[in-house]
Amino acid sequence: MKYALLHRGDSRSEELADMFHALARKRRLVQDDEDPQIVVSIGGDGTMLHAFHKYIDRLDKLAFVGVHTGHLGFYADWKASELHQLINLMSEETMRLEDKLVMYPLLEVQLHRVSISSTMYALNELTVRGSGVTLVAQLHINDNLFETFRGDGICISTPSGSTAYNKSLQGAIIHPSLEALQIAEMASINNRVYRTLGSPIILPKHHYCDLYPQSHRQILLSLDHLHLICDDIISIRCRVADRKVRFARFRPFPFWNRVKEAFIGTEAE
Ligand code: NAP
Repeated sequence: MKYALLHRGDSRSEELADMFHALARKRRLVQDDEDPQIVVSIGGDGTMLHAFHKYIDRLDKLAFVGVHTGHLGFYADWKASELHQLINLMSEETMRLEDKLVMYPLLEVQLHRVSISSTMYALNELTVRGSGVTLVAQLHINDNLFETFRGDGICISTPSGSTAYNKSLQGAIIHPSLEALQIAEMASINNRVYRTLGSPIILPKHHYCDLYPQSHRQILLSLDHLHLICDDIISIRCRVADRKVRFARFRPFPFWNRVKEAFIGTEAE
C-alpha cells in the first residue's frame, strides 16, 4: 500500500505524523507523495481540504483518510489514539481498498470571466461575496431567473460541506449519499426591489444554478479555504460534479453518529 501524508503543522500533528511514518515503515507501507493510493490527513477537517486540493487531479486514483488532533471532524474521524489500529488495517495482506470506499459528491463550479473561463471543484462549498460592498446578483435555476439577491453573499455547498459554513447559515444537514447541492443566503436584504426566498434551497443532480453578479463590482470567491477576488465575472454556474471524492472507511462510523458527536455530544441515558 502506497500512502502520502499531510499534517496541519502544529506540534501535536507533526508528532503524530512522525509516529505514523515510523509505524508504517514497520508494516511495509510505502510513502509515495506522487502516486499514493491513500492520502492520510492529520489535523482537522481544514487539513483535509488542503489534502483534497493538493490531490485534486488524482481523485479517481486514491482515497482519503483523516485523523484529528483536536475535536472530532467530519473528514477527520480517526482519533490519535487509534493510529496503530488504522495502520494495522491499512497493512492487512487481504485488505482490498475498493471494498472500503465511500464516495461523496463534489460541487462543480464553472467560472466565466471576461477574459477566461475555468472549472473548479469544491469539497465543502463555494461562497460568493461582495468585496467590501454588498453582493448584488441574479440567481437563475435551470436557466430561469429565480431571484435578485442583495446582501452579504451566497453559499453553495456539497452534502459533506453542509456541516461547515452552510450550517452556520441555518442550512440543512444533508447525508452525503444524496447527490445534491444546497444554496444558502448570507444576510440578504429584502425590500420591494430585492426579494429573495429566505430559505435554503436544495437542488438535485442534473439541476444547476447560475449567478450573474452586477458588473463592475469586486467579488470575493471562496472555494473551500481558497480565495479569489475578481471584478470581471460574467457568470458562475454550479452543479453536482460528475466526479466524486473517495474516502477509505476502514471501520464503520455512520454519518449521523458523527453529526451527533460533533454537535450534540453524548448525553446520559
Ligand atoms: P478552517 O479553520 O480550516 O475551518 C473553519 C472551521 O470549519 C474549522 O473548525 C473546521 O474544522 C471546520 N470545518 C471544515 N470543514 C468542515 C465540515 N465539512 N464539517 C464541519 N466542520 C468543518 O478555515 P478556512 O481555511 O478559512 O476555511 C475552510 C472552511 O471553513 C470552509 O470550507 C468553510 O466551510 C469553513 N468556514 C466556516 C465559517 C462559518 O461557519 N461561519 C466561516 C468561514 C469558513 P477543523 O477544526 O476540524 O479543521
